Amino acid sequence: MNIAIIGAGASALFLQALLKNKYDITIFERNKKIASKLLASGNGRCNLLNINASSNDYNNKGFMDKVFSKVNIMNILKIFNKLGLTTTIDEEGRVYPISLSSETVLNILTDKMNAKVELNYIVKSIKKVGDKYQINDYKTLFDYCVLASGSSASIIEEKQNLCYDYLKSFNLSPKSINPSLVGFKIKNSLKGLFGVRCKALCKLYVDNMLIHEERGEVIFKEDGISGIVIMNMSSYYNRTNKRSSYITIDILEGINPNNLKGALNPKMYLYVIENRIDIHSFRLDIIDTYGIKDSQVINGGIDVSNISDTFRLNSDKNIFLMGEMLDIDGICGGYNLSFAFMSAYIVGSELGYENKD
Ligand SMILES: Cc1cc2nc3c(=O)[nH]c(=O)nc-3n(C[C@H](O)[C@H](O)[C@H](O)COP(=O)(O)OP(=O)(O)OC[C@H]3O[C@@H](n4cnc5c(N)ncnc54)[C@H](O)[C@@H]3O)c2cc1C
Repeated sequence: MNIAIIGAGASALFLQALLKNKYDITIFERNKKIASKLLASGNGRCNLLNINASSNDYNNKGFMDKVFSKVNIMNILKIFNKLGLTTTIDEEGRVYPISLSSETVLNILTDKMNAKVELNYIVKSIKKVGDKYQINDYKTLFDYCVLASGSSASIIEEKQNLCYDYLKSFNLSPKSINPSLVGFKIKNSLKGLFGVRCKALCKLYVDNMLIHEERGEVIFKEDGISGIVIMNMSSYYNRTNKRSSYITIDILEGINPNNLKGALNPKMYLYVIENRIDIHSFRLDIIDTYGIKDSQVINGGIDVSNISDTFRLNSDKNIFLMGEMLDIDGICGGYNLSFAFMSAYIVGSELGYENKD
């Protein structure tokens, strides 16, 4: 039996590691190299899992409840350890390779790999030929197809549609696509604050309703704000109607210094004085998020109502969809790679992978 996997990213490489020696696997990858997002992840350090992940950390809690009932993150961590990866876990539950290099993760996933990889190969169509599948005009026909073509997050505009175009073969089209895990463009003039970083309690309001609050480092840009805490805000922002929205930041939570000059970054001090800012509630009015090429993931993609809770396409049970191409996205901290690997684990189990733990 053989399998075609579309896309050589994180989920695909994990799946082939689970199923090697059970099937002949061919992976089709449009780029000239595999796993570019995995390599870029966590600034090259690869935050591959988060052991605290739960369904609340994703945009589609209902579907994720089903995923977490089938697999838990510790299963995935153990598999990585068994494959040979030594990992370290920080106080926030973020799992990294102990080498702090995403290349180590890739080396482990591709160790003794026997899948065939077709590089520079853009999948444009998948046709059913009898009970098998043909990818473009590729000669070998396949028993199963696994669609793992990710999303357009961080990709320059002209390549954006490649991930989803071939899905027209199945009458599937992505739900609206919004950048997520990305900073915000802000209405206020931030002149003078460029490059300032400050730890703050941040609160996101939409239509004056508090949607999410979190502490973390805010980074000021020329026309907006960024930083992990702000990127997480974008994930919650995407789950709302996005009408009138703003973020307040409390720059000195619980502290009322008698001399602001001695407590604030000098650029922030000048800005606060000149603009009469309340340091405990500095309001930043949102225009929108930055664009797709600045985002780490996409909110949107293929609606999970098209698949079963074992990731099989409802209209054709021998086709599976997994990873970021689905309309599932999580917050920063290893949650998105967690989903890529969890979904691959469930697909692998459907195709005969047995976890012996
Ligand atoms: C800069 C950056 C940093 C990140 N850091 C983290 C992090 O630290 N932790 C975390 O959890 N998540 C992180 N993410 C998100 C995470 O990398 C992705 O969610 C994850 O890689 C998705 O895995 P995937 O297998 O679904 O898709 P991908 O890894 O994106 O793989 C999809 C593959 O399919 C290929 N493809 C697309 N269309 C076609 C086609 N038509 N034909 C052939 N091939 C095709 C693509 O070229 C790609 O190689 C980060 C993302 C970015 C951009």
